[in-house]
This record gives sequence, C-alpha cells and structure tokens, in this order.
Amino acid sequence: MKQIQAIRGMHDVLPEQIPLWQFLEARVRDTLAQYGYQEIRTPIVEMTELFKRSIGEVTDIVEKEMYTFTDRNGDSLTLRPEGTASCVRAGIQNGLLVNQVQRLWYQGPMFRHERPQKGRYRQFQQIGVEAYGMAGPDIDIEMILITQRIWRALGLRDLELQINTLGTADERHAYRERLVAYLNGHASELDEDSKRRLDGNPLRILDSKHPAMAGIIAGAPSLLDHLGEASRAHFDRLRAGLEAAGIAHVVNPRLVRGLDYYARTVFEWITDRLGAQGTVCAGGRYDGLVEQLGGRPTPAVGFAMGMERLIALLEEQAPALRDPVDVYLVMMGDAAAARGMLLAEALRDRLPGLRLLMHCGGGGFKSQFKKADKSGAKYALILGDDEIAKGVAGVKQLRLGEQDDIEFSALADYFAARMNQQG
Ligand code: ATP
Ligand code: MG
Repeated sequence: MKQIQAIRGMHDVLPEQIPLWQFLEARVRDTLAQYGYQEIRTPIVEMTELFKRSIGEVTDIVEKEMYTFTDRNGDSLTLRPEGTASCVRAGIQNGLLVNQVQRLWYQGPMFRHERPQKGRYRQFQQIGVEAYGMAGPDIDIEMILITQRIWRALGLRDLELQINTLGTADERHAYRERLVAYLNGHASELDEDSKRRLDGNPLRILDSKHPAMAGIIAGAPSLLDHLGEASRAHFDRLRAGLEAAGIAHVVNPRLVRGLDYYARTVFEWITDRLGAQGTVCAGGRYDGLVEQLGGRPTPAVGFAMGMERLIALLEEQAPALRDPVDVYLVMMGDAAAARGMLLAEALRDRLPGLRLLMHCGGGGFKSQFKKADKSGAKYALILGDDEIAKGVAGVKQLRLGEQDDIEFSALADYFAARMNQQG
C-alpha cells in the first residue's frame, strides 16, 4: 500500500525541534507581556469574503494562493492566509475597537498555496501583533521597539530594519498615475507578472524580485516625493523616534508590501542568511481597514513574524536546545515495579521540575540501562528486590558511573539539591 504523506509544503515539527520552538514562543510571549499586549485566538477558517475585502482582490494571496472551498452549507470558506483580517473582524464583531485602544497578538498556522521552497511553505506559523486606536508615529515606534527587543531576547543579530511610507490612499493614487505612466514607457521590458499587475496593482511591481525588473524599478519615480505634509511629518517623527531609541534603519523607497491594506508606515526586518526568503518580520500601518470591514474609522498598525524563518536563523546562531531527562527509573521484579511507580509519583509531587522517565515493559537490567543511557538521563534510579528489602534505591550517575544507595525518604532532597546545582 502506498504510504500517505503530509501535504506538499506542510511539515511536521518533530519532538527534537520542539525545544527550539518553545524557546522562540516563550521569548516572544514574555516580550509582548512586557509591553502590555493581550493574546487573541480566532478561528483558522473564515468566510472567503473577509480576505477578498481586506487583503485586496488583485493581490497574489487572493488571486492565486488561498485555500478556498465550499462547505456543506454552500458557503465559500478559506483557510486563513494571514491573521490581521481575522483580528479586525473579531475586534469589530466583539466591540473591542470602539472608543478604546487595543494591543493584541495572536499565533498560529497560516495557509498559502505558494511554490514550496526553503523558508516558504504552504502551512506556516506566524506570530502577529496588532494595535488599534492610536494614530501617531509613537505606536509605530513601539512596534519596532518590540521587534528589536524580541531579536535581542532570542540572541539574533545581523537583522536589518527597512522602513518606508506609503502615504495616504489619495497620495498613493496620485503617485500611482505617475508610476503607471513611467512603466508604460517601459511596457515592452516588463516581465509577465509585472504586465499583469500594471492594471490592477502597479505599486506591487516595485516589489518584483525578477532580475529583469531591477533596472526599471531603480529608475521609477519615488512615492517619497509625492507625500503630503501630514504623511511626511508622520514619517519624519517615526525616523526621529527610531534614531532617539538607537535603532538603525534603512529607508527603502521600494518597500511596498504584498497586501493592499497598508498606509503610511511599512517596515520589514531582513536577513541575508536565508537566501531569497530573507524577510523574517513585516508590518505596517493600516488605518483604513477597520472601516473597510464595516467598523468605525480606527487607526491601526501591526506586524507578523514568520516563525519558520526565525527558527532557521536560531538553528544557525544558537546552540542546540533540548529537553533533558533527569532521572530514568530502572526496576526489576513485580514488587519493585509496584513500589517504583509510587516512588516516582511521590518524587513528581515534591519536585515539579524533575523530568523522570519510568521504565515500562519489563526486561532485564542490561536492556533497561541501555534505554536509560539512550534517554540522555543524568541519573538512573534503581530498584530491585534487595533495594526494596533495605528501603533504599540505587542512584547511579550515568555519565560518571558512581552509584550510591539513598533511602526512599531522602530521595527527594537528594535530587532537589542536585537540580539546584544545575541552576
Ligand atoms: P514574502 O515577501 O516572503 O512572500 P509576504 O510579504 O507575503 O512575504 P506577509 O504576508 O507580510 O509576507 O507575512 C509576514 C511574514 O510571514 C513574512 O515576512 C515571512 O516571514 C512569513 N511568511 C509569509 N509567507 C510565508 C510562507 N509561505 N512560508 C513561510 N513564511 C512565510
Ligand atoms: Mg508572499
């Protein structure tokens, strides 16, 4: 029979990788708590309309990447390709956005039918952060401060911050006409994707990674020259704030982001260590989206981190992490097995931090010790008929080979002392 495989572009995270994921998640969670952000959890499936209306009909995501299906009621549903739209929907639906500010974050799988490659998957994990009700550059700066602090907490270096401003919808509109006129002048040199985007979404052409487009893009007019007074002031204050906080950044006038809802501030954190998939975090301001989805006008800003890409960086930069086993309980004979299980439970009661593996399934001492070694445990706790008779357990330091007999009643203190030493 043919083995059933996971779906292309969707991966298992195996036990040996979990410690790194948990380290990443814990550091991010702790940092977000420092800034007073609260977690929100939304469904993984939403009405297809939500993404069409928020992300934009002529974006890559909506045009060709969404996992969309009709359910048994005949409704068109979509596996979420990103988290912001759901967050806004939930905020409006639950009255979280009216006359108040919100600082929210979420975590979970996202789904996009892209061409799978290193750092690009069809199911991938994001942690996203969103803030509502604050219009000034101060909250934009806070977003970037948070990301910077997360990199520091993770021990990640060498990430470059790129920022840009997309201005307001009106400013973008005026710029768009200039840009289209310019691109029409180069119509014959455009690649297929760019030709297609020229009508619906010409700004996205600036984001093209196609080598043939590099020269054309470099010569294109800059949106920065088409900003109104207020947008320019917002951007200047953002930059001044970053400078005051000592956050190095590069202004990249070609940074446009793939989603339609952004306005004014956009930013990305980029590394050159992951090949073409170098953006580990991306975000920006999306002041129009809440109203667009039926809420009151509400300023908003947020970002999302690609967890697989951060994991790839951590694997490269950080030493391997694992969940070590402290104690492996080896038992010989029925009496020992019965006593051993109770002893193990008593130790877990007293020492919640102790990782204790109880041998199951019987077998001789030799094979049990082999399993103890393989588990990576520091200590083997040994119980046989002799030990039971004396009221002691043998404690063997597996790497040193030394063995002591410890009375049952003293075992918890024995391990407590040694766990403290490990710090
Ligand atoms: P890219 O330009 O790499 O396609 P994007 O602009 O589509 O990214 P966003 O929608 O802003 O990305 O998502 C935020 C982050 O999520 C990205 O910066 C990236 O780290 C991660 N990400 C996006 N798509 C994928 C994917 N298919 N696989 C893995 N990570 C992804
Ligand atoms: Mg993309």
